[in-house]
Amino acid sequence: MTDMIYLDNNATTPVHPAVLEAMLPLWRAGGHGNPSSAHGVGRAARKALAEARETAARALGARPDEIAFAPNGTCADNVALLGTFALRGWRGHLVTAAIEHPAVLRVAEELERRGVAVTRVGVDASGVVDVAAVRAALRPDTALVSLMLANNEVGTLQPVRAVVELARARGVLVHSDVVQAFGKVRVDAEDLGVDILALSAHKFHGPKGVGLLYARSGRKLGPQAWGAGQEHGLFPGTENVAYAVGMAEAMRRASAEVAAYGVHTRALRDRLWDGLAARVSGIHRNGDPARMLPNTLNFSCDGVEGDQLMMNLDLEGVAVSTGSACHSGAIEPSHVLTAMGCSPERGRGALRVSLAGETRPEEIERVLALLPAVVERLRALGGGGAGGQADLLREVHQKR
Ligand code: PLP
Repeated sequence: MTDMIYLDNNATTPVHPAVLEAMLPLWRAGGHGNPSSAHGVGRAARKALAEARETAARALGARPDEIAFAPNGTCADNVALLGTFALRGWRGHLVTAAIEHPAVLRVAEELERRGVAVTRVGVDASGVVDVAAVRAALRPDTALVSLMLANNEVGTLQPVRAVVELARARGVLVHSDVVQAFGKVRVDAEDLGVDILALSAHKFHGPKGVGLLYARSGRKLGPQAWGAGQEHGLFPGTENVAYAVGMAEAMRRASAEVAAYGVHTRALRDRLWDGLAARVSGIHRNGDPARMLPNTLNFSCDGVEGDQLMMNLDLEGVAVSTGSACHSGAIEPSHVLTAMGCSPERGRGALRVSLAGETRPEEIERVLALLPAVVERLRALGGGGAGGQADLLREVHQKR
């Protein structure tokens, strides 16, 4: 499917050839060692893992001993929250936001079941958390604020730095899910000031199934799995050296290229929005254009279901997403758009287009040529409904 126009880069990205190149020796005989083995093959693996940790730390503005490689971004988020409250005997209070990824929201629910109090701060109509609302939510027993840096669905950037300022003054720790932000905007752990953050390699041309948990020096987390103590005891089990090396190389590349990425994707994303706004009536942008990832565009078209639009674009060879990939299949409006106060119709109509550094201008022009006609066609059909969608899905499967 190489001729596909892939505009779903917030869901995942392809592995960069240089990342794959860096990983391959770690699977081959001699490079394949267990970092815990005392012999030469083990020592080589240990060295490769240590170098990956150094590279990752440098790309993140952290120290190597502040980095633990994790099985994915979800596990890193889970351990950040569970590990904080495990050390507090499942007591205290968590402040988080209604627009977080399920990797945080579902853990907050689990924390409630274990006895932790949770406050979920809302967002304004543009999808941004109000710092004053976070301040108002803090209590004497608040132990942690968890606020994502960039939202995966609408792309809004959250005021994490400002939240750190006020949390620090109250002795409250801050965790940030920076899974969608890293590689799209500059992320430096020291500058951001958070105590804990979570990353995932597959969002910036690294492999799926590897993430990272940063915990500032001195910040302890209680283990959530037990074994031979690898990765500071937080993610025990034989280290996936090849994936750690791939993640580190992807981080190195992404952090080095982040400025160029921003210029490139913003120009194309804005060209796409300006073109659509000029050609499609009843189109509404979701999110705050002034506080937004450069690569993300989320919009709804009156009278058109996002699922139908997505499937019709798929038939034309364009991959986009409705809401977040993690929720696809569900026809309910996303929790993010609901939290922003969107009507159910506008929520169900939302389409997410997410660009990458390799997105080409001609791909954007192709979408601009296609999308207005698809919207017109769907409006003329008057919504379609579930039967229409099933037909479309069948067609998609027959064609590909
Ligand atoms: N957090 C955010 C904001 C995400 O967008 C995602 C993935 O979609 C995750 C966490 C989970 O990361 P992973 O897929 O590595 O588990």
